[in-house]
Amino acid sequence: MSKIDWIKQEIESLQTAGLYNRIRTLGSAQGAWLLVDGRKVLNFCSNNYLGLANHPGIVAASKKAMDTYGVGPGAVRSIAGTMDLHIELEKRLAKFKGVEAAITFQSGFTANLATIPVLVGKEDVVFSDRLNHASIIDGCRLSGAKILAYDHCDPASLESVIKENLSQYRRALIVTDGVFSMDGDMAPLDEIYAVAERHDILLMVDDAHGEGVLGKGGRGIVDHFGLHGKVDVEVGTMSKAFGVMGGVVAGSPVIVEWLRQRGRPFLFSSAMTVPDVAACIAAVDLLEKSTELVDRLWENAKYFKKEMKELGFDTGVSTTPITPVMLGEAPLAQQFSRELYEAGIFGMALGFPTVPQGKARIRVMISAAHSYEDLDKGLEAFARVGKKLGVI
Ligand SMILES: *Cc1c(COP(=O)(O)O)cnc(C)c1O
Repeated sequence: MSKIDWIKQEIESLQTAGLYNRIRTLGSAQGAWLLVDGRKVLNFCSNNYLGLANHPGIVAASKKAMDTYGVGPGAVRSIAGTMDLHIELEKRLAKFKGVEAAITFQSGFTANLATIPVLVGKEDVVFSDRLNHASIIDGCRLSGAKILAYDHCDPASLESVIKENLSQYRRALIVTDGVFSMDGDMAPLDEIYAVAERHDILLMVDDAHGEGVLGKGGRGIVDHFGLHGKVDVEVGTMSKAFGVMGGVVAGSPVIVEWLRQRGRPFLFSSAMTVPDVAACIAAVDLLEKSTELVDRLWENAKYFKKEMKELGFDTGVSTTPITPVMLGEAPLAQQFSRELYEAGIFGMALGFPTVPQGKARIRVMISAAHSYEDLDKGLEAFARVGKKLGVI
């Protein structure tokens, strides 16, 4: 019996349960169409909401910056890894978000791991939406604070958990995803803010899927709800709509300064790379210049969802461009995904533990990069496979 036999058995049981992740390798840049195993397929999988991942202006800005600054940051930010480029990006992001200060991280994931532990510790409590993203959950665990989940997007549940528990702890934090990526629903941030305000509790939102998507010209969920200056901490990512890579925390200069002093991924992991930073600055430029891409994203999403509903598909509760196609059991979702792929459509099946048992789905990620012709091609394939498998 080898020491790793148990791992082999675990992997086999994933395969039996239809939960094994088969990862496709791309031979092209991100975009509406991808090259997979030498074949062109229509891309319904990536978070490249605005098509910026391969935008010529952004690629050019990256190349230009590398001519001056090279590629790597060379060190962690606090030792010798902060370039004037990093500072410029942070200023630009703060201005774009309408806050006083911002600090960048290597990813949205590390932004959460940095932020939650600097705000709460062992004597404290976090009130966390039951369906929050894994990186929020991990950030909460790292903090050592007591984690109390409230019902998904339910301010009344949040308030009752607060009333029952708050007095036993030193400090508290409320944390929620802005957009929940599996269902595409949005946190009722205005109502959550009202609860936070009533109990004088710090409020943090992770706007990974709202950055570049929600609000005026993609300024995010805080802008969407008109809550400027009211949400204490906005975490975001530049790996989705921005099309690059990197995390950001936007808010008061005090919190940003505290993260610079104590955020562990800031202190112990190197800075964002030069091409990433330059590309993110170029993405802010683009978003500040025009709302065209954000508008197109929403038009595409509305069209696709309407047509899918007319075909008879259940697209769940989404109020954003994320379009889940609810299928039920994981093996059906996997079969659906395989049949779509045969038809030249790359649509990923999501099953447990990414989504709850019995709620497997294909999640369609709509992008401004899709043309109506692309969307029609996708709809046609969904209709054909849906009928074949008895879903519609
Ligand atoms: C995608 C996502 C992250 C992680 O962002 P990366 O920049 O890819 O690390 C964090 N939080 C939420 C809510 C996300 O959807």
